[in-house]
Amino acid sequence: MASGQAKRVALSSLIHYNELNIIKSEAMKDLHLYLHIPYCQAKCPYCHFFSETPPQATLPLNSYAQYLQQDLIQKKREFSLNNHQVKSIYFGGGTPTLLPIQELSDILFYIQQLWPIAPHCEITVESNPHSLTLIYLKHLLNLGITRLSLGIQTFQPHLQEILQRKADFSKVKELVTLCQEKSVACGLDFIYGLPEQNLDDLRADLQLIQELPLSHLSFYELELHEGTPIKDWKDQQKYNFPEQEQIIEMYQLLYQELKKQGWEHYEISNYAKNKQYSQHNLNFWLGNDYLGAGASAGSRLYAQSVQNNHNLKNPPDKQTFTKAENTIQYLMGRLRLNIGLDFKDFETGLAEQMQKLAGTWPAVDFQENNQEKLILNENGWLKYDYYLNELAQICYDYYGES
Ligand code: SF4
Repeated sequence: MASGQAKRVALSSLIHYNELNIIKSEAMKDLHLYLHIPYCQAKCPYCHFFSETPPQATLPLNSYAQYLQQDLIQKKREFSLNNHQVKSIYFGGGTPTLLPIQELSDILFYIQQLWPIAPHCEITVESNPHSLTLIYLKHLLNLGITRLSLGIQTFQPHLQEILQRKADFSKVKELVTLCQEKSVACGLDFIYGLPEQNLDDLRADLQLIQELPLSHLSFYELELHEGTPIKDWKDQQKYNFPEQEQIIEMYQLLYQELKKQGWEHYEISNYAKNKQYSQHNLNFWLGNDYLGAGASAGSRLYAQSVQNNHNLKNPPDKQTFTKAENTIQYLMGRLRLNIGLDFKDFETGLAEQMQKLAGTWPAVDFQENNQEKLILNENGWLKYDYYLNELAQICYDYYGES
């Protein structure tokens, strides 16, 4: 009898404990962290992201982990991010693998001191295959990273020369193979629409890709940002830049060929095998919050945009999204995805106006266009800006923010 009572007590306290845990985990929100590492060996002529070249960098490389730690502590306090668990960590840049491995290890340690880490937390590190060594990658894998993202841009030597980049195919193969051996997802990033690039250059890259055990690919159209050398080259007609028609042909070649290779085109510029999507980026495209830390890092938190400055000395610039802007943030990401948007996510009156307009659009641009969902297809993604602007205008009008 006594032991039976003891058992009941033990069982009830176990249930109580489990209930508490369920309540705790239900209340626990997911936190997605972006950590900007602002160092590069050299500045690429097309790049507009903030990065500096050590040893001239404003913030010393060997103590950058401490700057990040302070920034994370400050933002956790300011935005009351107590009841959160870390669901993804993304080391972007810059070239995060220029940091001494001990600094990266310290950053992960600081994060664990601030928040619990969710099971299956995705930890991505961006890198440049030219400077990443196999030894460094082994250390990275020992730290528990789950994804490596390598910036390639192009494998074609004459284009690499223009971009002042080096990505040796056999070196990339070694890096990717090591990831595969350790069951770590690996993706490559490319740019198309490059000066002097033609369809054959892209075909050659697509051929090489087939030789690699990859789980993820990004193909971004070249953007010409003011203040970058590549923008000046275009203005000065230093090289032949593909015309818009050729860029469309490149986009079409990419998705048609990659589909034949078994890739899922899950986002306007991104492809995955076996549903190995970038969870961190997916969270961003879904319009959810993320916390950015480090020099020039941006965050989206509680309907606010928070933008760090370059030296982390002055407080970040903050801007609260208006209702229309907040809705457009959602539209911007969801229209990029092959799951599109749900009209039930909008206020009824706004959804009705959107549905009415969408009903006039050509079926050829949509995977789905009905009372529930709006999903662009590859044809429609070519007109992404047009559809986004049309829906954005409805939002501004609806909320009286025109
Ligand atoms: S390595 Fe990457 S982040 Fe650095 S300058 Fe080049 S493109 Fe920009």
